[in-house]
Amino acid sequence: MDSVKYVLAEQDIPKFWYNLQADLPEPVPAVLHPGTKQPVGPDDLAPLFPMGLIEQEVSTEREIEIPEPVRDIYRQWRPTPLFRARRLEKMLETPARIYYKYEGVSPVGSHKPNTAVAQAFYNKEAGVKKLTTETGAGQWGSALAMACAFFELELSVYMVRVSYNQKPYRRGLMENYGARVTPSPSNETAAGRAILDEHPDSTGSLGIAISEAVEMAVQDDHTKYALGSVLNHVLLHQTVIGQECRHQMEMAGDEPDILVGCTGGGSNFAGMVFPYLGEGLRGGAKPRVVAVEPAACPMLTKGRYAYDYGDTAHLTPLVKMHTLGSTFVPPGFHAGGLRYHGMGPLVSHATQLGMVEPTSVDQLETFSAGVQFARAEGILPAPEANHAVAAAIIEALRCKAEGTGKSILFNLCGHGHFDIQAYMDYHAGKLTAQEYSEDEIAMALAGLPSVG
Ligand SMILES: *Cc1c(COP(=O)(O)O)cnc(C)c1O
Repeated sequence: MDSVKYVLAEQDIPKFWYNLQADLPEPVPAVLHPGTKQPVGPDDLAPLFPMGLIEQEVSTEREIEIPEPVRDIYRQWRPTPLFRARRLEKMLETPARIYYKYEGVSPVGSHKPNTAVAQAFYNKEAGVKKLTTETGAGQWGSALAMACAFFELELSVYMVRVSYNQKPYRRGLMENYGARVTPSPSNETAAGRAILDEHPDSTGSLGIAISEAVEMAVQDDHTKYALGSVLNHVLLHQTVIGQECRHQMEMAGDEPDILVGCTGGGSNFAGMVFPYLGEGLRGGAKPRVVAVEPAACPMLTKGRYAYDYGDTAHLTPLVKMHTLGSTFVPPGFHAGGLRYHGMGPLVSHATQLGMVEPTSVDQLETFSAGVQFARAEGILPAPEANHAVAAAIIEALRCKAEGTGKSILFNLCGHGHFDIQAYMDYHAGKLTAQEYSEDEIAMALAGLPSVG
């Protein structure tokens, strides 16, 4: 039998990040200043980000060199393994060949450190002393907390209140790395106080937590802000995933016909698929590319492609993306990392250009898929990753129905060791199929900013 695990050597860690902006047939729409509605310049973003990251945000260079100190840290867990899911294939009785890239081998258990380490590096290099950020389920917060510990930066994390209460162990992990964690909305910021005045028992949202983190960052010259998804430079840093996949699929002597990734803000998805999309745009193979989002927070499938704010208090620049409206508060489902109102502009743009097929799956279906996957392959996926697992299983079953042996590659972006309570709730029958509220989305979309 062929191998089930494809492992690269340390020297195979990519030396460059791949920038999709170099190969796009049309450039991604400009980021606009929230006041003037004119394209922002580097100086507008300077209070939030160091210049190294701002340059990457707008770069159209195809390959951007990974600094050696960042690669040095990547070495601890990269290259990550790629597996053939033979036992899952057997369980499903599918003729499809299912592969998964496993990003859960990082110290915090997800793909997030790929960008956290890079962002901490560029901030340190620019003389920044402290970072602020938001976190949902705590995956991003713990990745950045680890990276800040490596580069001796202070970190203040605003954690969505529902997760702060539901996932105390992620909070504990962040505090262990030395970060300060505050439940959001909080009384520390004007944005948080405004929400609490209106909704004293607000469960919070990523949009609110971003407002708090941005507000704290712009008040201090030595403090900057870091975002764990959505932005071009974040998606860029994740492209080590797809570059490794291409190498590993070559080792397997196979080529993916279908790529699958879950999408919150789009970073793990982009990380895996952008190197493939680029290859296709340069005349190479064009696999089908499937983006999977929660039915309860359906940005790509039900949102509007429009300019919107990244946060609830409207402190951020305007970006063109698929959005449910910046005031939309998604229901409290368990895949906290997918509870955001907007999609990364590059993923939205690629979707608009017809390069990505968006789809959504319901919470119950995702957990059912995750349990099946764990029983077949042993790895317990993060609730977010379960969306990719569910869609990969749907594709594999379609192959079975059609009698076609296609090759499916999905990104298993994180493990679920901190999400056992969600699995216990699922097994106890406490999880529900969650739909979004059409009225709430309509209300939030009615508040979209008007852009000339
Ligand atoms: C944060 C997170 C996500 C969602 O963010 P993306 O930017 O869309 O990748 C998905 N899965 C895991 C495990 C996460 O930690």
